[in-house]
Amino acid sequence: MVIRDSARLRAELQTFPPYVPGRAPEEVPGLTPYRLSSNENHLDPLPAVLEALAQPGDLPTRYPDDAAVALRKRIGEVFGVSPDRTIVTAGASELLVALTQITSDNRTEAVYPWPSFEMYPQVTGLAGAKRHEVPLQADGRHDLAAMISAVTPATGIVFLCSPNNPTGPVLTQDELVGLLDAVPSHVLVVLDEAYWEFATDPQAARGIELLDEHPNLVLARTFSKAHGLAGLRVGYAIAHEDVIAGLLKAVIPFGVTQPSQRAAAVSLDHHDEVLARAREIAAVRDDFAAALRDQGWTVPQAQGNFVWLPLGDLSDAFELAASRQALAVRNLGAGVRISVGPDEALERVLELSRTFLAEHPRLQGEARPSKH
Ligand SMILES: *Cc1c(COP(=O)(O)O)cnc(C)c1O
Repeated sequence: MVIRDSARLRAELQTFPPYVPGRAPEEVPGLTPYRLSSNENHLDPLPAVLEALAQPGDLPTRYPDDAAVALRKRIGEVFGVSPDRTIVTAGASELLVALTQITSDNRTEAVYPWPSFEMYPQVTGLAGAKRHEVPLQADGRHDLAAMISAVTPATGIVFLCSPNNPTGPVLTQDELVGLLDAVPSHVLVVLDEAYWEFATDPQAARGIELLDEHPNLVLARTFSKAHGLAGLRVGYAIAHEDVIAGLLKAVIPFGVTQPSQRAAAVSLDHHDEVLARAREIAAVRDDFAAALRDQGWTVPQAQGNFVWLPLGDLSDAFELAASRQALAVRNLGAGVRISVGPDEALERVLELSRTFLAEHPRLQGEARPSKH
């Protein structure tokens, strides 16, 4: 047999890790398993959305509407922007890839906070851009001054994540304005708002108000989290029409199926209900974070549908202890992220976290008073 070389792949692939999705829970006899590892919405989609999905009429022989006219129109109406300022993608994930494609190559640099969404190193690394990972502050917030300092004449793209996945805090409007004013206007600034619907801090950044003044700002959003449609793969951007025109050249043609487009549009028809449910989840999140702080944990401001425990080198041990209780949490090395789930799941987490803290008292020693 001839031994052949495997295909030659790009050297950039060696510079970043693959995306690792949240795990499924282990089966433990007598315990309902809960997946708290992927920030999915544990509430069912709205009944009207499920009805729309069950409707016949979208023949699988036909390509979907590539321009997503109806859905973009609906996004425009709900958020008060022209449909020319919107684009629909296969999840916000495809959008993050396309935003990097239209700005970045091996002569450019990318700036993003860390830890933050794991796709930022992936998309910028694949483009060959030089990556500046700017450490978060100790309280899990972006270090805006350090991010601004990391911008050079070669910077093509800056990612911001508010609320930040995985740590939870929002950027404030003042912080966002400060960064947009400090960064040259040819640098594309992506505000990843995957969890914006859950943010209840009145000071939380409102990127949509800044789009007119800052044509280099892009809002990256998704139907996966507050709308509870992660399986349908629909994301969208709101941005200046020139950025949208660039994105339209970079996305996959026909990337979002017709049933997905239709279900997303119906979910937007019920936007008030979606927001009301996001606030319900936010209230549960606040109680959950407060209960953890009462136990002695240091929990950063939690503004998404998840809570972050900065466990450091005890992250593996916590993940293992959780899996023995049929709970899947997300271990990101520096800590563990726990999605808001049903009450029974969160009660089980709180029992586990109390025991774990008692077994590892040094975690308490690091506790800092939280500002929020
Ligand atoms: C979940 C998530 C996304 C995108 O998810 P999609 O399912 O691809 O829409 C983007 N950014 C952050 C920070 C996320 O957590």
